[in-house]
Amino acid sequence: MSIDFSHIPSSIKEKSNSELTTSIFLFRAVRYKWLIRFGQVALPYALWIPGVKYLLRKTIFNHFCGGETLDDTKKVIQNLAAHHVNAISDYSAEQAGTKEQQEETRKNILQSIKFAGQQKNVPFACVKITGICARPLLEKISKKEPLNESEQQARKEFLERLDALCGAAAEQGKKMFIDTEESWINPAINEAAEMMMAKYNREKHVVYTTIQFYAADSLAYLQRLIDTVPYKVALKLVRGAYHEQENERAAKMGYPTPILPNKEAVDNNYNEGLRVCIRNLGKVSFCAATHNTGSIEWLMQLMKEYHVESNSDIVSFSQLYGMRDNLTYELAGNGYNVSKYIPYGPLKETLPYLIRRAQENAGISAQMSDELKLLLKEKQRRKRSDV
Ligand SMILES: Cc1cc2nc3c(=O)[nH]c(=O)nc-3n(C[C@H](O)[C@H](O)[C@H](O)COP(=O)(O)OP(=O)(O)OC[C@H]3O[C@@H](n4cnc5c(N)ncnc54)[C@H](O)[C@@H]3O)c2cc1C
Repeated sequence: MSIDFSHIPSSIKEKSNSELTTSIFLFRAVRYKWLIRFGQVALPYALWIPGVKYLLRKTIFNHFCGGETLDDTKKVIQNLAAHHVNAISDYSAEQAGTKEQQEETRKNILQSIKFAGQQKNVPFACVKITGICARPLLEKISKKEPLNESEQQARKEFLERLDALCGAAAEQGKKMFIDTEESWINPAINEAAEMMMAKYNREKHVVYTTIQFYAADSLAYLQRLIDTVPYKVALKLVRGAYHEQENERAAKMGYPTPILPNKEAVDNNYNEGLRVCIRNLGKVSFCAATHNTGSIEWLMQLMKEYHVESNSDIVSFSQLYGMRDNLTYELAGNGYNVSKYIPYGPLKETLPYLIRRAQENAGISAQMSDELKLLLKEKQRRKRSDV
């Protein structure tokens, strides 16, 4: 079944004129890489300047985040439910250096899991490990360096936090996505995710680890999980959000980049990952977390070929809030199981997330000009009908 993804989604049609103008301004602005680079360096220091927070909130924050609190996101989640789209509340803190900050993040995610328990259209919770464990520790674990006593204690506490979150999700009958981050901390993240899958995925797919298919070793990792682990393998498949940082760090430190050499290689690798997953369905359950129309169409074709129902519980799609609503809404309208990640949190905490979204939109002109095209198409439509 082919779907026409070129329709203007209702989320764009429902924007007020001023919201539409702001979104157009935003997507035009993020095409300038130098502006993103400048923002990346300057913004964390500029938040105290009068008006900066207001401006950010009105533009990039409002577009890519559901709000500052879980309560703020309720309206968005209800609206998605009306369009048969599931939601995933994503507390977007990822720079938790101190134990207090890590505990705070754990409490916030726990709250989001309890909230999910009361909502029919929130099947997943999610956690970013750098919100509940310090980066230097993750790096040390990843390098397999010996930990001193206090680091061993911090590692134990981090695993307890993660276990409490996965356990709470399981109790509420929800699933848990564990996000992946940079390659130099991912071995520690993967190790923790595998521990949680071993505990919670004996009978059902509860804990989902994430594989980044821009990584040259991703297919081998996927195959190793399928071939060797004695539990259910649950996966979120992404291309990966840090390719520029990865290449820059590798060049700076003089080691070969772990990232595939170009976009085409990444696209092929991702699509091959989808094929491997669908061939192993049953042991594997997976979510294609992507805004790439080609990959979405490819998965729809695979589902048909392998006789997987479109509304299957073990194959799903997901996109980020504020991105490619045309894909999300059309998939939902055609009966597919699709969800939206809804990031939320205090403006300052969400900055790294917002900068990544801006970088992504600056980097992928073809894909993102589609986003801009839809916004401009809506503007034209309003002009014609004088809305
Ligand atoms: C629901 C959801 C959850 C996500 N969770 C995570 C997560 O846990 N961890 C994470 O890292 N990311 C995550 N992402 C982000 C994701 O990895 C991508 O950054 C983003 O989705 C864009 O990729 P795409 O598949 O949508 O397709 P496209 O827009 O077609 O592809 C863009 C991607 O291609 C790759 N790419 C582009 N140019 C090059 C190049 N020259 N060389 C090599 N690669 C290139 C990059 O990965 C880039 O992000 C998530 C995305 C979604 C939708």
